[in-house]
Amino acid sequence: MSAPTAATAAPATASGADRCVRAPLPVLGRDVTVPLVTGGEVAYAALDYAASAPALQRVWDDVAAYAPYYGSVHRGAGYLSQLSTDLFENARRTVAEFLGCRDGDQVVFTRSTTDSLNLLAAALPAGCEVLVFETEHHASLLPWRGARVTYLDAPRTPDEAVDALERALAGREPHGPALVCVTGASNVTGELWPVRELAAAAHAHGARIVLDAAQLAPHHPVSVTDLDVDWVAFSGHKLYAPFGSGVLAGRADWLREAEPYLAGGGASRTVSRRADGGVDVEWHDGAARHEAGSPNVIGAHAVASACKALTEEGFENLVARERHLIGKVRTGLAAVPGVRILSLFGDDAPRVGVISFVVEGWNSSHFAAALSAEYGIGVRDGLFCAHPLVRILLGGDPQAQGECGAPEAAPGEKSLNAVRVSFGAGT
Ligand code: PLP
Repeated sequence: MSAPTAATAAPATASGADRCVRAPLPVLGRDVTVPLVTGGEVAYAALDYAASAPALQRVWDDVAAYAPYYGSVHRGAGYLSQLSTDLFENARRTVAEFLGCRDGDQVVFTRSTTDSLNLLAAALPAGCEVLVFETEHHASLLPWRGARVTYLDAPRTPDEAVDALERALAGREPHGPALVCVTGASNVTGELWPVRELAAAAHAHGARIVLDAAQLAPHHPVSVTDLDVDWVAFSGHKLYAPFGSGVLAGRADWLREAEPYLAGGGASRTVSRRADGGVDVEWHDGAARHEAGSPNVIGAHAVASACKALTEEGFENLVARERHLIGKVRTGLAAVPGVRILSLFGDDAPRVGVISFVVEGWNSSHFAAALSAEYGIGVRDGLFCAHPLVRILLGGDPQAQGECGAPEAAPGEKSLNAVRVSFGAGT
């Protein structure tokens, strides 16, 4: 079988006309030009939002406006320190509002979703069981070291997911604390998970639930109150802010009772020498307990700026435009001979702008490289840090070994990895 050329297999999104449509929220980098192997240059098309979304122009402007007033937070007596402390604590309030937090909920600034979920993993009460679907991103699948983890098989419908969780929770012995960790939107298929129903199932059986909103929050409103989840985690760099900041927001009790995630200044209220030569520490109760060290004020400010921008634009607008783009990309891809779009819940499932596919006769890494070299389109290839899920979707063995950037499938064999196109408010 001869492989189609990248020209015949390239998705319809490559057209110059589509690139000129104004994004609802301007991002930096839309006018970056890149060289093509075929000669000349083309405006770069960033279609890898699920990995890291380009930061909004507004966010960069807000960061730049603050930069001259930069100061250390919390302990500085100077004017700029006070201003930075206000900015940091206001950012916390903005994020709490953005996430519809309840009275008493805590917003902890972290480095990323991965960091947030590792923080929660470190705060699990003794004997806590964790339940997680095998379909999760590794950030949700892996942090629960030391806990008893039940991995649930991939469901084929949202209802199946709820039933599987109900069954697993009902059969649990003994009935100690339990945490369910679930993604709101898949970073592989873009499909939305039945978060509200899963939360109801968890609570009905005395368990708690944390929502991995890394892919959901940039595309849909996320309210801990409306969804009735106990915690939510997301990353700034997927929410149109720069790298380096994330959020864990939700119930304060487990966080208050846990050892500090990092030990050091900022987390400690008082430290004193004991008569026996050791050291006594009294830790803070609030968010500061898990934010030891000098916090990333600019990162928190940037996240808050992105939250405000999304709120002001309105998710209704964003969702409607994205739905249009999703339809366009999926229709374009479906018209290309040999393309198979990956889906767990089926073609009609509601989804965000994250679409993975394979092209018959192509190694996905080569296909992605060709899109970049010949068209200036930046997509992702591989197993997307969700190895078991991608292997299931490719019809392979979820227990197989192998790294991202899998080797080329022999002609006629199944693909070993996939291509992912993803977009959002700046597209
Ligand atoms: N969860 C999901 C669903 C993701 O897609 C990702 C990143 O791709 C993460 C968690 C981890 O995010 P980060 O790398 O910012 O920690």
